[in-house]
Amino acid sequence: MAELKVLFATSEVVPLIKTGGLADVSGALPAALRAIGVDVRVLIPGYLQVMAKLGEFNVVATFNNLPGFPSARILSGKMANDLPLLVVDCPNLYQREGGPYQNEQGQDWPDNALRFGLLSKIGAVLGSDESPLDWHPDLVHCNDWQTGLTPAYLKFATGAVPSIMTVHNLAFQGIFPAKTVADLHLPASCFDIGGAEFYGSLSFLKAGLFYTNHITTVSPTYAKEIQQEELGFGMQGLLTTRSDDLTGILNGIDTDEWNPSTDKLLGKTYHIRDMSGKVANKALLQYRMRLKVDPAVPLLGVISRFTHQKGLDLLLEIAPQLAALPVQLAMLGSGDVALQQSAADLSHKYPNQIAAHIGYSEPLSHLIEAGADMFVMPSRFEPCGLNQMYSQRYGTPPIVHATGGLADSVVNYTNATLKARMASGFSFSGMTAQNLFDTIQRAVSLYHDKPKWQALCKNCMAKDFSWSTSAEAYREVYLKVLEQPKPVIPV
Ligand code: ADP
Repeated sequence: MAELKVLFATSEVVPLIKTGGLADVSGALPAALRAIGVDVRVLIPGYLQVMAKLGEFNVVATFNNLPGFPSARILSGKMANDLPLLVVDCPNLYQREGGPYQNEQGQDWPDNALRFGLLSKIGAVLGSDESPLDWHPDLVHCNDWQTGLTPAYLKFATGAVPSIMTVHNLAFQGIFPAKTVADLHLPASCFDIGGAEFYGSLSFLKAGLFYTNHITTVSPTYAKEIQQEELGFGMQGLLTTRSDDLTGILNGIDTDEWNPSTDKLLGKTYHIRDMSGKVANKALLQYRMRLKVDPAVPLLGVISRFTHQKGLDLLLEIAPQLAALPVQLAMLGSGDVALQQSAADLSHKYPNQIAAHIGYSEPLSHLIEAGADMFVMPSRFEPCGLNQMYSQRYGTPPIVHATGGLADSVVNYTNATLKARMASGFSFSGMTAQNLFDTIQRAVSLYHDKPKWQALCKNCMAKDFSWSTSAEAYREVYLKVLEQPKPVIPV
């Protein structure tokens, strides 16, 4: 069979622009797919940050007449790792100070429907007979609500290739007023319960879930959870109806970027056969975060958006009890102002034991993964989660709520799982502060049993979280979709 060609449409990609795990996946999965012979090209908006890092490019298409949209160009370039990029260049929509979805004050850009409508539209044009490019994909791989309208536009295009839609987080849905349907020149028939309509509004995500050929999400457990009311965010009915077309594939991680034996952001590198460097990183982390430098006290690391989803409220609630255990807590992240304030207050109250760095820091995130003894991730829900995988790779057992990808990537410690060399952390069910506290306490008592603790850390480091297995699983989904007979479009 000729080489499979896939257009990977996304709103963020590492290292050009990142707000969360979607960017990590968009950087690593296409590269892993290329390594197994799939010709993947990444479609991304030309934000200021992307244009600044783009380097050399060619203008390969100009669109002056996309109904409802301003003029735009497609620039073809490459990332540093040779991953081909197709950048949607539309300065009025994308080149502005601030984040990809929000301004510097944290408010959504008022024209997000147009911004991501254009990204979606171009994804569909490139996957149809309208495409001006020489390169024609066999399939468009869409990611989250920002590209959710691509399957809808494809549905009504001529010569359209199939699509798959990956849900990285069902909580973000791209909901806009009903009139957006006409503004974006979607057929009025889309605005239906059997279509893109969601409680009287247009939902980009629902459009994607409804019109795409196949849905994937980022862990097998999350694929089941989103079919239930509690975590379905109103989409559970549609997802249950489409359960035969829904596959959960656990994300991998970039094992080059996250490698304790080569990581330049650490004080000292280390590997599974000699973990002594971990001690130096712990001391450096304690020093950098102005905690008491003490090798004996268990140090808990946190890297997270400070949100209800991530369960940070429960962790902060039990922080005084944790300080009394005693343990230290090194937190990095930003988000809800109240949670940030509470973390800062705790760090003032317990300066030797609790530290909070409010903000985003790649170097500090690497040092936390390496220097902490344990990593805490009590998410209420977690589609996949990356930090618990990074932490295992760095020999830092995670403590997690058993949900979504956390359930699929962390094996709870028991005597039996340790004996079987499976145990790689601590998990709990029942999202309460008490359960979280009890689980941390369980981890702390094992920490003081050095031979067992070391065995646990080595189990973590021996696990394979590389993308290769997941990339194969995506290729299988692509092939399955391409084997399906083309649906007949009603006229
Ligand atoms: P989500 O995408 O829901 O935020 P994930 O665990 O899937 O959560 O991915 C989060 C990614 O963002 C990880 O790569 C994590 O290391 C990184 N990250 C989150 N907050 C920060 C921060 N404050 N500083 C540095 N990296 C961060």
